[in-house]
Amino acid sequence: MSRATATDLVYLIAIVGFILALIGLSSPKHARLGNLAGAAGMLLAVAWTFSLPAVYGQTKNLILIIVAVVIGTVIGVPAARMVKMTAMPQMVAIFNGVGGGAAALVSVTEFISLPGKQIAIYKICEILFGVLVGAVSFAGSAVAFAKLQELMTGRPITYPGQQPINAGVGLAIVAVLLATILTANTALLVVVLVLSLALGVIFVLPIGGADVPVLISLLNSFTGLAVAASGFTLNSNLLIVAGTLVGASGILLTRMMSHAMGRSIGNILFSAFGSVITATGADGGPDGRSVRTGTAEDIGVLLAYARKVAIVPGYGLAVAQAQHVARELADLLTARGVEVYYAIHPVAGRMPGHMNVLLAEANVPYEQLVEMDDANPEMATTDVALVVGANDTVNPAAKNTPGSPIYGMPIINVDQATNIVFLKRSMRPGFAGIDNELLYDPKTTMLFGDAKDTLTALVAAVRSV
Ligand code: NDP
Repeated sequence: MSRATATDLVYLIAIVGFILALIGLSSPKHARLGNLAGAAGMLLAVAWTFSLPAVYGQTKNLILIIVAVVIGTVIGVPAARMVKMTAMPQMVAIFNGVGGGAAALVSVTEFISLPGKQIAIYKICEILFGVLVGAVSFAGSAVAFAKLQELMTGRPITYPGQQPINAGVGLAIVAVLLATILTANTALLVVVLVLSLALGVIFVLPIGGADVPVLISLLNSFTGLAVAASGFTLNSNLLIVAGTLVGASGILLTRMMSHAMGRSIGNILFSAFGSVITATGADGGPDGRSVRTGTAEDIGVLLAYARKVAIVPGYGLAVAQAQHVARELADLLTARGVEVYYAIHPVAGRMPGHMNVLLAEANVPYEQLVEMDDANPEMATTDVALVVGANDTVNPAAKNTPGSPIYGMPIINVDQATNIVFLKRSMRPGFAGIDNELLYDPKTTMLFGDAKDTLTALVAAVRSV
């Protein structure tokens, strides 16, 4: 077997690993296995690539590559191990950004190294696509990271003349792209690179904090496409397939996330969601209404004598790292004969599958995790909906307040349960920044405090019943 055939074969096995990874990641049951399959495919592909004469035969390049791998490993491994679950979106943003940046740089260096600039037009187009999309992804991801990490405001940034400026940059890019295709001039390519970086920044600035995770998924798909373009430039089937898989799955994920938020992708990218703040943040309502608070003991009795209890987790559960004590409470109630289930909203938390990952960490059995569409019909027969650090995902404004930023988003219908208990620290709103009428509902009881503390108090209360 020739080396070229062996390379194709090894890369094909690696690609199978990537596809198995996507299949595995579609369910929490085999997500870990899927991740391993993808990592094994990548390890195989990288190890084989190192064995190719074009790499190990070039001592200077080899040393540079090894230095880059060591730097990447020294930064990447501790960062991935230490990152808090709630900071995962910005971690994905920055990792995604460097991928896009790398793809853009590969395209630039290929362009520079092509002999005599007698380049076929299709080749220039591939390279320009890689530079444009990779640079937009790099710069856009960097701004998305800065927003989520609170290095800058997370609110949409708008300024006078924003749309004409964006359109001007877009038109300038088209003009320089055409000129580069006609002249194959390296200086023009650098102009494309700089303008694409600028486009990445101005594209992301007007997008508000709550929409940034959706944006990151879209930028992730851009990076995949840029990698696929460098695959064409380098004649690498592996990069073409891997990049296309990332591009396609990124687009699908973006669609699923926007669908779960009840909005179109266009609306998320081009409207200033998240800029509306109507909540007071005080312990009373905006019009001075008061809320009903309860003690852990009262709520413990309510839970212990309930027939059916829904635990509805949200972002606050992740912030409090209260998943283990939530499970303890559920186990305790189940042992008393109470039917307990977890009602999972698809965009609860700050990333897709956030609640599934969190509860899997506490070894909550998968059967107890009920997706929103299956949980909602159960709500009318549920005695207590225990909302732990969730807000937007249970806010009835999504159903009955046209004009609300979350109007149209499907929610978990906790308003249909006989009793509602909210565990949160204050009357502050959730990510969308809007009040939740349900907090003032006569059948709602508030238990204020960090979710870990209040759940611990509830465990003690149920034990003492
Ligand atoms: P929300 O952001 O709506 O609300 C979280 C609530 O948790 C807050 O009201 C906060 O209130 C409370 N909280 C925070 N920390 C604690 C703590 N330590 N203990 C107890 N409570 C706490 O969360 P949801 O999960 O309901 O909604 C997710 C939001 O994120 C939606 O708007 C969704 O569209 C958006 N989003 C989600 C994405 C995803 O993929 N999951 C992607 C993009 C956006 P208080 O401060 O008073 O404690």
